[in-house]
Amino acid sequence: MQVPFLDLKSIHKPLKQEILTAWEEILETTCFVGGPHIEAFEYEFAEACNVKHAVAVHSGTDALRLALLALGAKPGDEVITVPNTFIATTEAITQAGAKPVFVDIDSKTYNIDISQINSVITSNTVGILPVHLYGQPADMDPILEIAKKKNLWVLEDACQAHLAEYKGKKIGSLGHAAAFSFYPGKNLGSCGEGGAVTTNDPNLAHMVRMLRDHGQAKKYYHDLEGYNARLSAIQCAALRIKLKHLPSWNKARQNIAKKYTDFLRDTREVETPFVPLWANPVWHLYVIMVENRDKIKSRLSEMGVSTGLHYPIPLHLQKAYSYLNFGKNSYPVTESCALRLLSLPMFPEFPEEQIYYVTECLRKILLN
Ligand SMILES: *Cc1c(COP(=O)(O)O)cnc(C)c1O
Repeated sequence: MQVPFLDLKSIHKPLKQEILTAWEEILETTCFVGGPHIEAFEYEFAEACNVKHAVAVHSGTDALRLALLALGAKPGDEVITVPNTFIATTEAITQAGAKPVFVDIDSKTYNIDISQINSVITSNTVGILPVHLYGQPADMDPILEIAKKKNLWVLEDACQAHLAEYKGKKIGSLGHAAAFSFYPGKNLGSCGEGGAVTTNDPNLAHMVRMLRDHGQAKKYYHDLEGYNARLSAIQCAALRIKLKHLPSWNKARQNIAKKYTDFLRDTREVETPFVPLWANPVWHLYVIMVENRDKIKSRLSEMGVSTGLHYPIPLHLQKAYSYLNFGKNSYPVTESCALRLLSLPMFPEFPEEQIYYVTECLRKILLN
């Protein structure tokens, strides 16, 4: 049996005609940049996330960077985040002029370790950037409490957590702002690149709108220098169609996660994901922890099962950040996870017999 890590074709097949019809209309109207699809998508996405404003931008990286700039990040500022995330999180901080300051992750949730935040706050700290990694919400209440006490803002990296919930509230509605990615492989993916900033603050939303469009609110009146970070109508049209299916796709992912966990319950060598009572995750990834991960990954591959690593090298040990001078053991939980984590295949149309096959392969390998 060949088991793909992610099958994007199965997601788009039933939507092909609807998407093509929308794209044909855009070709006819030539409304490629700006226009009704962008406004409608922003309205619909804001409603789905239960926030007042959503601003569509070119990518999740742009969403993070423009949100940071709109929040006022500048050279000398420090922003607290985790080393176990995709590099876009810290690229955005650096490119907004600020400096990333790492806090290790919690060994059970793999999200930011709340207990370590206070110890890294300095007079230069301006904000906290928790990542809802793998679609699992970070523990937001204590983060918001620390932020309030220390007068910091909170920007959620929600790029893997579309419609996930924390204590019944939608991710993306909890901090001062949140950044989403619509990279094709995300829970809600465009047919290219895409992202959005969500916020309940009208001034922040206005600032991100200006920044994504050369600092103008009115054509050729530039209040500041911005960027070209707009999202195209072609992508917004496809996203509108796909957004309608997002709740049922997330439900399918939740069912798959439940089956994985059930099938792996008796396999002691596998640590399945821990879900706190307050979390309603959306399983962008289903990540297990195993010893001898690399060997298991290659054995699975021989048996036809594709898996992923998220992420094999912690950010503080990447060459790009060698100038920060972190040695090994700087963030021991992150480093230990990087050696042991393994992402199993996960996408809404993943057939049950394949879930079973993956777990049976794992069991066979572990028994040998
Ligand atoms: C995907 C992702 C991003 C960046 O999104 P792009 O749309 O690829 O720019 C940022 N942070 C995390 C955690 C991501 O998974």
